[in-house]
Amino acid sequence: MTVDTIVQILRKVIDICLVWGLLYIILKNLRKNVKMIMLFKGILIIVVTKILSDWLDLVTIGYLIDYVIEWAPLALIVIFQPEIRDTLENLGRTKLLGKHKTLSMNELENTVHEITNAVDYMCRMRIGALIVIERDNSLADYIDKAQKIYADVSGPLISSIFYTNNPLHDGGVIIRGDRIMCAGAVFPTSDSLTISKRLGTRHRAALGISEQTDCISLIVSEETGRISLAIGGELIYNLSLDELRIRLLEALAPSQKILSEARGGAQSE
Ligand code: ATP
Ligand code: MG
Repeated sequence: MTVDTIVQILRKVIDICLVWGLLYIILKNLRKNVKMIMLFKGILIIVVTKILSDWLDLVTIGYLIDYVIEWAPLALIVIFQPEIRDTLENLGRTKLLGKHKTLSMNELENTVHEITNAVDYMCRMRIGALIVIERDNSLADYIDKAQKIYADVSGPLISSIFYTNNPLHDGGVIIRGDRIMCAGAVFPTSDSLTISKRLGTRHRAALGISEQTDCISLIVSEETGRISLAIGGELIYNLSLDELRIRLLEALAPSQKILSEARGGAQSE
């Protein structure tokens, strides 16, 4: 085999790896953004219809699809400009995986206990709150711009942050592991059409950040005292305290794989 052939093979391998890498990143980022998933589905439907119309020789539908394909890229760029910008931003967003302190089951139960205690109090007192719990996607960008707290998660501390007369009560609290990182965080608001018109900016901010990252957003409504969760761009409205506790434990429980890796790491230290 000559050097030339080896170089050519290497080139092809690098080319294929780059395409796969790009596809992997795009699909991973698509997963986080509900609107982009819808866009992706739309493109898929158009492509499948085009293939079918070519195959079955359906002239009229084929002509229409050609027209749509011709103009779609321009229309899509204009309509989805904010989403495209967000996705590109997400590409550069760092992931936390591996750097996270993996909470033991006891620490997790204690964290959830403190959060639900605060939520219980705030519901009864009709204190509005937005608590965002970080998972694998880093929320460092939002923490950087907010008021740093760096304190252990505690029910009374969370309730007092959202107490109406506290200067920090506006915006959201971000929790990483078992630490309150900051208060007064401002999140992007969702422009989802599926959310009830009665819900205002607090709920939209919770939904917005859950569309863009894999965090869990918890809302206590000041108006109704109701508890809601936003996960993966979906708003789960009006939960009981027990439902909240169960969902938080489920969503935050470390997978067995991560736990065993953490234990392995601890033993080898
Ligand atoms: P509630 O049921 O508690 O009234 P809501 O969904 O109706 O909630 P608003 O009444 O508009 O929402 O709540 C306003 C509060 O939501 C603000 O005072 C602020 O604390 C918070 N908030 C609004 N926008 C954002 C944002 N982009 N990021 C973080 N917090 C926000
Ligand atoms: Mg309101």
